[in-house]
Amino acid sequence: MLAQKKVYLAVALAGALVFGFIATSVISYFLASESVNDHIAEETLPLTSDNIYSEIEQDLLRSVLISSLMAHDTLLRDWTLDGEADPEKIVRYLREIQNKYDTTTAFYVSEKTRNYYHANGILKQVSADDAQDAWYFRARQLKTPYEINVDTDTADPSRLTIFLNYRVTDYQDRFIGVTGIGLSVDSVAKLIASYQTRYAREIYLTDREGRVTLRGPRFEGAENLRERAGMSQIATTILATPSASVSYENGAGRRVYVNSRLIPEFDWYLIVEQAQSSAEARVLGALLLNIGIAIAIAALVGAIGWVAVRNYQASLEQMAGTDPLTGCTTRRVFEAIFDQSRKNALRSHSPLSLLAIDIDHFKQINDEYGHAAGDLVLYTLADTCRTHLRDTDTLCRWGGDEFLILLGDCSLPNALRVADAIRAAVASRAIRPGTETVECTISVGAAEYEPGEELRSLVARADLAMYTAKREGRDQVAQA
Ligand code: GH3
Ligand code: MG
Repeated sequence: MLAQKKVYLAVALAGALVFGFIATSVISYFLASESVNDHIAEETLPLTSDNIYSEIEQDLLRSVLISSLMAHDTLLRDWTLDGEADPEKIVRYLREIQNKYDTTTAFYVSEKTRNYYHANGILKQVSADDAQDAWYFRARQLKTPYEINVDTDTADPSRLTIFLNYRVTDYQDRFIGVTGIGLSVDSVAKLIASYQTRYAREIYLTDREGRVTLRGPRFEGAENLRERAGMSQIATTILATPSASVSYENGAGRRVYVNSRLIPEFDWYLIVEQAQSSAEARVLGALLLNIGIAIAIAALVGAIGWVAVRNYQASLEQMAGTDPLTGCTTRRVFEAIFDQSRKNALRSHSPLSLLAIDIDHFKQINDEYGHAAGDLVLYTLADTCRTHLRDTDTLCRWGGDEFLILLGDCSLPNALRVADAIRAAVASRAIRPGTETVECTISVGAAEYEPGEELRSLVARADLAMYTAKREGRDQVAQA
């Protein structure tokens, strides 16, 4: 098999493995990342939204209870009906409520005097002309007993507060004022902050128009849903439905999953966003690791395959008994042939000779003209030798650039003649691997078999003679 074919086989083997590994890895990557994304969109975000919503509801429910208690308090009603004498009385009452329930404010506005009573005293008189007091006139007209209103606090305009405005009526159900408490949105803000830091989620609330009304400490980007990078399209969907699960591509090219829900008490949207998570990054990491391992394993299998094929081929060639390049007998087969020839020689008392042939300066030929030219020289040498041999002779490639010729029924003088004929033929034969001509000579050592001698010893003597020929100037024949 050609070296190139072996490489093809190894590469094909490795390629098939890499392809298989990568195909399964990529498929499982997509399945895993899909399930990670589904998990975010269908479970994680709605759950966060539920938690925040229920936290808000809890705060509201408590506020409704407290305000209801205040609105039905006989003290508050009697004091109002009795003409609001001694305001300190009601101020103390409000202070008690504020301290006891840890609210940010507690208030009462009387319909008769329009006084705004507060834990610190009478704050002001509400007026229909003051936009800040619009809430009172709205609450006054309410069909329901109370309303929830998110607004800045009259006592502290920098603070966003959830107000519970509860209508107060006399015992005949006539409207006499509005009382209630204010709760800071701090607890909600804290929750938002904690979700934001713990799960890298963006959480905020917007009004019906998409304006951001409440947000965590590390909120980034535009303060309006429609102006946020990548969100202009889905903003309409969010603001048109009570709840939505959508996604968009942010400025950095990452997919962001969004869950929105309308909080009817505020008329605000609670929005929870999460970018493709770190879980996704882990899945990607696993994919890259898989591919790395696949390539390593494939390279290993390819290398093992290559070595296995090479060894298998070498042993096949050994078994076949011919050298693939020159067609000469291999060493192992030559040993068997020598055994047989030696027996024949002993039996028939005929001489047996051995020639050891080595190419002169073969390394230089390889270096100068390339390995392929060297191969052609080896092939041509074997070919030249063959034209000088009889059927009973055996040509063997002993290794590298050294050949042996076993000459049956041949004495040393005859062997020397054959050797010189081959030497002369080689020296005069031009070899053209390409456009250039390669000059090639050989040195030959000849030895005659001595009865009882081992092959090793005969080869050693022929080799010795060959080295003598080399020493004496090459391109010549020497005898043992
Ligand atoms: P010297 O005259 O002393 O023999 O010199 P040299 O350069 O021929 O020395 P040596 O016999 O030690 O060199 C053998 C070279 O034959 C070294 C090796 O690279 C080369 N060789 C061995 N097998 C092959 C082969 O199958 N093809 C080719 N092209 N070169 C081979
Ligand atoms: Mg040589």
